[in-house]
Amino acid sequence: MRIAIIATYTHPTRLRIKEPSIMQSSVPELIAGLCPEHAEVEIFNEKEADLPLDRHWDLVFFSYLHSYYEHTKVLSTLFRQRGMTTVAGGRHAGHFPDDAAKYFDAVITGEPESNVPALIADFEKGELKPRYSLPSQGAAAIRPYRYELIDFTHNKVRLPGIEASRGCPFTCNFCVLTGHERYRFRPIPEVIDEIQTRMRWNPNFLGLMGDAFVFLDNNLGGSPKYLRALCEALIPLKKTWGCALTFNVLKDESLVKLMAKAGCRYVYTGLESLNPDSIKAMNKGQNKLSEVDAVIRRVFSAGILLSFGLIVGSDGDTNEYLHRLPEYLADLKYFSVTFLGIVCPYPETPFFRELQAEDRLLPGTISRDYDGYTLCHRPKQLHASEVVEHFQRLCNTLGSLPNIARHYASKLMMSDLPRYKQTILFSGPEIVSIRNPLKNKERRYIAGLDAIEAWDAEQMARLGLTPQVLTGPGTAGARPTPDPGLAAHG
Ligand code: SF4
Repeated sequence: MRIAIIATYTHPTRLRIKEPSIMQSSVPELIAGLCPEHAEVEIFNEKEADLPLDRHWDLVFFSYLHSYYEHTKVLSTLFRQRGMTTVAGGRHAGHFPDDAAKYFDAVITGEPESNVPALIADFEKGELKPRYSLPSQGAAAIRPYRYELIDFTHNKVRLPGIEASRGCPFTCNFCVLTGHERYRFRPIPEVIDEIQTRMRWNPNFLGLMGDAFVFLDNNLGGSPKYLRALCEALIPLKKTWGCALTFNVLKDESLVKLMAKAGCRYVYTGLESLNPDSIKAMNKGQNKLSEVDAVIRRVFSAGILLSFGLIVGSDGDTNEYLHRLPEYLADLKYFSVTFLGIVCPYPETPFFRELQAEDRLLPGTISRDYDGYTLCHRPKQLHASEVVEHFQRLCNTLGSLPNIARHYASKLMMSDLPRYKQTILFSGPEIVSIRNPLKNKERRYIAGLDAIEAWDAEQMARLGLTPQVLTGPGTAGARPTPDPGLAAHG
């Protein structure tokens, strides 16, 4: 039996651009680890390389985000026309199983550990069911990934990833985990064994990245007690690692120092905004803005690169705040923003339900628009065009070369810890990438106004497929289902 596992991708510009980067979806390696030994398994990541569309597999698993849905529908339809059996899984499929059932032979709406083996067993017997929703078996059921299938030639900077936990104890109103996933973690000996005996390391750059990996958890600090024990167990491994976690964890100086001792050199945290009204609107009270400066200094002085994400278009945002944001950031001195987006009301979130109840979702919004770079709603204090202007200006300012030079000048010599300077050097291109969404000058960044990718539009017209509209009736009744996330927030 030949199985393909495909993480699909469409670029924020809506042009056919690849974006190889340090952190990638590991869902293909995860699903591969659940396939039987006798299956011949291949994995693909469209963010790194094009798919070989002329190949044949018996069974094809698709993993995708909301904004990749139209593209994934096209691929599935093309493959089914050629006699292949296709399966949809992930957060979107779990939330819209009835819609996905129109385009895929089977839909997984639960966690993969229980459902993938059951689906494959049924497929081999010729008894495939349209839906698989077996309950979760807990975090201890997470199996080691098939790291040996990762192809480091497509993406020279990619690092292997591992999950120690799933879910998050917080309830940010825009987060896809809120209300769907409780926080749970794996036994530490299993995590350590997977790193020591299974992980395959990036062989590029003369081995410079040869002992580095990333935790893929949405929030590695969901239980500081667990994180402490995990760090203690990581110290003897002498590896270098990065993770995403919440701001509150970084207030604990002894824990930050322990993380550095255990090899942590990079932390991403979703700061989201420096505007207290926006933080309040997001229900992100764990971010205490009065402590931001002290926390950032503490983390950098411990030898950990702290990077954060910011989003614009929240209900607390005003023209004055967004105009002054670069000044606020400059006041912090030590900062490196590696993600800048437009707040997105993903359909399974409290934020979406709030906007729907207030009739503030923009008309004509389709799943392609839910990409974190397209305004899908009417903010309370800004006109849609103002949000876009601020977004474009901030992308250009924060991703500018003078900003990178300032980043290097302020941080490169800050610590003697092993691998710290390399981490800083590799972070430069990540910061420049903030400007990548602007590469298409035609792009409007407002839902309903941007055409989908030309190839997808052509194929959809030819195959008779229509986009999934997400502002109309029917979206509110969709059923939320847990699934390991692709997007780390922290
Ligand atoms: S945005 Fe981050 S902190 Fe908030 S619920 Fe999601 S993962 Fe947790």
